[in-house]
Amino acid sequence: MSLRLYNTLTRQKEEFVPIDASNVRMYVCGPTVYDFAHIGNARPVIVFDVLYRLLRHIYGEGHVKYVRNITDVDDKINERALRDFPELPLNDAIARVTAKTADQFQADVKALGCLEPTVQPRATDNIVGMIEMISTLITKGHAYVAAGEVLFGVDSMKDYGQLSNRKLKDQKAGARVAVDAHKKNPADFVLWKLSSADEPGWESPWGRGRPGWHIECSAMSKRYLGEVFDIHGGGLDLIFPHHENEIAQSRCVHGTDVMANVWMHNGFLQVEGQKMSKSLGNFTTIADVLKDWSGEVARFNMLRTHYRQPIDWTVASLEESKNILLDWRDRIGDVMTPRPDAEVVAALSDDLNTHGAITRMHILAKNGSVVALLGSLELLGIGLATLPREQNVLVKKQVEELIEARNQARNAKDWKRADEIREEIASKYYVYLSDLKDPATGVIKTTWEMRR
Ligand code: AMP
Ligand code: ZN
Repeated sequence: MSLRLYNTLTRQKEEFVPIDASNVRMYVCGPTVYDFAHIGNARPVIVFDVLYRLLRHIYGEGHVKYVRNITDVDDKINERALRDFPELPLNDAIARVTAKTADQFQADVKALGCLEPTVQPRATDNIVGMIEMISTLITKGHAYVAAGEVLFGVDSMKDYGQLSNRKLKDQKAGARVAVDAHKKNPADFVLWKLSSADEPGWESPWGRGRPGWHIECSAMSKRYLGEVFDIHGGGLDLIFPHHENEIAQSRCVHGTDVMANVWMHNGFLQVEGQKMSKSLGNFTTIADVLKDWSGEVARFNMLRTHYRQPIDWTVASLEESKNILLDWRDRIGDVMTPRPDAEVVAALSDDLNTHGAITRMHILAKNGSVVALLGSLELLGIGLATLPREQNVLVKKQVEELIEARNQARNAKDWKRADEIREEIASKYYVYLSDLKDPATGVIKTTWEMRR
C-alpha cells in the first residue's frame, strides 16, 4: 500500500518514495527550552510521533531515523536565566533553565505516549557544524559580515522563497529601513551575531558570538540525516521564515536542489475558541492538561482532528475523548494479540488521516472487532493503562438522565418519544436496557449495562 503525504513545497498530496527504504529519515523542529511547553507545542510532537510509528510500521522499526532537536541557545533563554537565577553566573543560570525545561519537556511528551526520537541533538553541541556552514556560505558568496553580524544574502539565491511562495519584491515594500540599514536586502537574515561580554558566546572567525536560530537546524539535520533527507516537519508558523531559511542555507552550502523532499506542517491549536496567550489567561501547559486528563485522553483528543486542520482544544472535546476511550477499554477486555486494522492503516497512509482512522475504529468497536481495535489504538500510540478504572461517571449520569426522560415520556403515554430515547441511549452509549416489572408493586424499573 502506498503512503501519500501532503507536501507544503509542492502544495499537493504526493506518493511518498523514500530516498533509501532501509533508512527513512525525518527531521522535526523541537522546542526552544526556556519555558514549559504549551499544549499547542504538543501538537507537532504527537502528529510526527504518529508519522514515525506509521513509517516504522511500513518500513520496519530499524529502518526509520527520526531527529528532533532541542534549541538551547536563544535570547529568550538568556532573559529567562537572568530573571530566574540572577545570583548565578549567566552560563550556570542558562544551564539550569535549559536542563529544567528540557527535562520537563521529555516528561510531558512521554506522558503523551510519544516515542523517543532516534537522536535529540542540542544546538549547543553543534556550534562547530554551524560555524563550518557559515564559513562555506561566505566562501560561496551567499553570506556577508555587517555591523557585528553574519547575514545570509537572499539575493544570492536564484529561487529563494519557494516554500512559503514569497517573492522578494513583496518583502522589500514596507521594510523597516532604520533597523535593517546594514542589510543588503531587508529579507537577509542572521547566521551569526556577536555577543557582548555578558551574553553567551563561542569563539568564531567573526569574533565571539552565537548562532541565529535557522542555522541550528541546518547544521543538526546535516550531521544526523545528511545533505538531502526525506521529511522535514513542524508547525505552520515555521514555514516562514524558519524553514524557508533552513532551506536557503542548506541548499546553498551543499549545492542541492532540495533540503528535504517532503515538508509537512501541522495546523494551529487554539483553546476554547481563542488563540492561546498569557494575557488572555488561557495559556495551557502540557503539565496543566496532564493534571486533569490522562496522557492517552489528551493524545487521542489531539488525533481526532486531521493534523492540517486547526483544532479547538476544549474541555467538552476532552470529556468526549475520555468517554470514547473508556467505552473502548470496556469492550476490549483482555486481548492478547492486537493487530492493526487494514482500513485504519489505509486511512493513516492517506496523509495521516487520523480522523478517518478513528471513524473506522468506532465501527470496529460497534462490531466487536476488538483485536483490530486494540491493534489500531497501539499503532496510534494510545495505550489504555492510565485511564481511570472506576465506572465512567459521566456516561452513567447521562444515561440515568435519559432513562428518567424516557420514564416521563412513558408516563405521559408518549410512546414514540420513549422509543426515540431508548434508541438514542442504546446507540450513543452502547448499553443494553431492560425494563423489569416489580411483581409486588407493578412498577416498571429500567436497568442498563454496558454492551460488550
Ligand atoms: P516554538 O517553541 O514556538 O518554536 O514551537 C515549537 C513547535 O510547536 C513548533 O513546531 C511550532 O510550530 C509548534 N506550535 C507552537 N504553537 C502552536 C499552536 N498553538 N498550535 C500548534 N502548533 C504550535
Ligand atoms: Zn528548525
